[in-house]
Amino acid sequence: MLIVTSVAAMQRLAAKLKVQQVRVGFVPTMGYLHAGHLSLVQRARQQIGEKGQVVVSIFVNPTQFAPHEDLSKYPRDLARDKKLCRAAGVDILFIPKDAAIYPPDFSTYIVEERLSRGMEGESRPTHFRGVTTVVGKLFNLVRPDVAVFGAKDFQQGTVIQAMVRDLNFPLKIVIAPIMREADGLAMSSRNKYLSAIQREQATVLSRAIQVAKATLKNGPISSKKLEAQIRKMVSQQSEARLDYVRIFDPQTLEPVSEVKRGTHLALAVFFGKTRLIDNGRL
Ligand code: AMP
Repeated sequence: MLIVTSVAAMQRLAAKLKVQQVRVGFVPTMGYLHAGHLSLVQRARQQIGEKGQVVVSIFVNPTQFAPHEDLSKYPRDLARDKKLCRAAGVDILFIPKDAAIYPPDFSTYIVEERLSRGMEGESRPTHFRGVTTVVGKLFNLVRPDVAVFGAKDFQQGTVIQAMVRDLNFPLKIVIAPIMREADGLAMSSRNKYLSAIQREQATVLSRAIQVAKATLKNGPISSKKLEAQIRKMVSQQSEARLDYVRIFDPQTLEPVSEVKRGTHLALAVFFGKTRLIDNGRL
């Protein structure tokens, strides 16, 4: 596995792979890797084949964190991440420095103005500007044929697909399913922050999705009713504070008034300072 830490070296390598017509599959991450990330690596490999090169980036992107959020405390373990990437068959691990991605005179951002407004965008107003900007930059540096993102960040996937279409990035976006712990909790680097009791109660996110699916089996239901049911479920957890629950069309991300099959549900819940998200198709 080749470890690349310089932006210029990554650009030279990407140019060389283009000339050699080697297909590149790309998985951008913020590190502290878990089985969810590694499933994206596998998916990238499937997409580009054994002769292709799988690139993983690890970059804790400061522009997608608000000043009060957990940037400085975001979990990091590069030694472990390198081992996991090697074992997963990653070809190139790109670990750029903050100052190389955002030099002091940096002043150009990518802003998606429709899909990024609600949900995560409402709770974290500058978040998606940071995500689209860094992902756009990483696409320019790595020049992948395919990039794989997780359905765990459903809105992010939709926003990136729109960015790629709107700005003509020449690559395919693949969205891979959510990997979960045995009890249903979606894997996340942030799960590490949870206390024992919070960890137990954190299954309320995936349970809410299951309850919504089960409720819908009895026939269509109003979004208001279902949202109220989920609000109640979350409020019964002593450590949980609901940020939002939203029922929406998976293409437009617009809220819908009636829940039907294929409607999407997303929720965000705080456990202390830790904010967890989950979503599912109903
Ligand atoms: P992060 O390191 O949290 O920025 O995530 C990097 C990529 O991994 C994103 O595309 C996430 O959606 C994806 N990801 C994170 N957690 C999971 C999970 N539990 N299952 C599948 N993909 C995930």
